[in-house]
Amino acid sequence: MNAPRILEQTLSRLREQGERLTRPRRKVLEVLNQSGDHLTVNDVQRALQQAGEEMDAATVYRVLQWLKRVGLISQTDLGGEAIVYQIIDDHRHHHLVCLSCGSIVELSDDVLDPLRRTLRRDYDFEPRIDHLALFGLCKRCRTQGSLRPALQDVQTGQRS
Ligand SMILES: [Zn+2]
Ligand SMILES: [Zn+2]
Repeated sequence: MNAPRILEQTLSRLREQGERLTRPRRKVLEVLNQSGDHLTVNDVQRALQQAGEEMDAATVYRVLQWLKRVGLISQTDLGGEAIVYQIIDDHRHHHLVCLSCGSIVELSDDVLDPLRRTLRRDYDFEPRIDHLALFGLCKRCRTQGSLRPALQDVQTGQRS
């Protein structure tokens, strides 16, 4: 496994804590690490299948929960049909998701640093914000309404 630095650190910490990296855990971790993308339970199961590894959805889900708990992967609702899982690497990122058009914009991690400081200082809470999705309305949907762009397209089409 060609693991990023943060992953190697976490793996050695887990070994020190006596956590067992069983075959299913290793296989699911490999899939997420090699993809680097947002994967659903089904995506993970399919990738395992392609690698010749049969695992039922319940097992995949259980392994994903363990990987999340020990801080190797993130679990996020991006507003799609299913929750997505992603490996946590050095390039932490988050998302702004539009509730109207579904557009997803990447949010830089340092935007959340003031929030982290406030949580530590005022709430004595150590936050683990690995991969956050914030829901709202994008500029286009706020200013134009979601129907107007579609109407303009129709009118342009008739003229040409
Ligand atoms: Zn993401
Ligand atoms: Zn929008």
